[in-house]
Amino acid sequence: MGAPIAGGCLCGACRYETDAEPINIRACHCRVCQKAIGASFNARVLVPLDTLTISGPVGWYPSSDDLERGFCPQCGSTLFSKRVSANIIGLTMGSLDDPDRFFPAEHIWVSSKQAWLVLADDLPAHEEAAPA
Ligand SMILES: [Zn+2]
Ligand SMILES: [Zn+2]
Repeated sequence: MGAPIAGGCLCGACRYETDAEPINIRACHCRVCQKAIGASFNARVLVPLDTLTISGPVGWYPSSDDLERGFCPQCGSTLFSKRVSANIIGLTMGSLDDPDRFFPAEHIWVSSKQAWLVLADDLPAHEEAAPA
């Protein structure tokens, strides 16, 4: 097993850590992620929720029935996308302590990918969600 996956927000008030391996690593181009993250897409590492230790304050916003977005209430960094029913939580790759450790394996929701963004990798790119 490698080093823990750890990260935190811009101001340092909120930190997270897990010893788990990622479930998957994806770049999501959906509009909800674009709005929630305030960026052109959401590159995130998905890990089991029950393995993640979070310290510090987190604000949660339900962006859909089943998904909550977590952010630092002090500095506003977007950190998490949490689905309790599936025991999973996405960690924004920009908030990782080592942002170069992981590479997305696929793009999802490229049907709403921003027009300026040209995908120059050879990764699978799914129009909507990844096939089950
Ligand atoms: Zn913060
Ligand atoms: Zn998304």
